[in-house]
Amino acid sequence: MLITCPYCGPRDVSEFAYQGDGNRTRPDPASTDSEAWNAYVYDRLNPAGIHNEIWQHAGGCRVHLAVVRDTLTHEISSVRFAREHGTPTHSRRNHGAKA
Ligand SMILES: [Zn+2]
Repeated sequence: MLITCPYCGPRDVSEFAYQGDGNRTRPDPASTDSEAWNAYVYDRLNPAGIHNEIWQHAGGCRVHLAVVRDTLTHEISSVRFAREHGTPTHSRRNHGAKA
């Protein structure tokens, strides 16, 4: 699998470190909503299909990337700088929301 780093170009996945689910939204630091904090810390999506992920180019420029990857085919449809990530492009979960 290749990940195209915006700075370094296409590189083997072995140069990257998976940093986790890119769908999490950190609650307001002043929030005392324990359910929202619990969801932020422990809940993760594990879809069979398109997933927003955070990767770090640990063996290169060390930048953090927001990657949209199909977990079934490993096809990568989008790579952006994580600092520009903002709102995920797919399957955002509403942490702390009551069902
Ligand atoms: Zn890089």
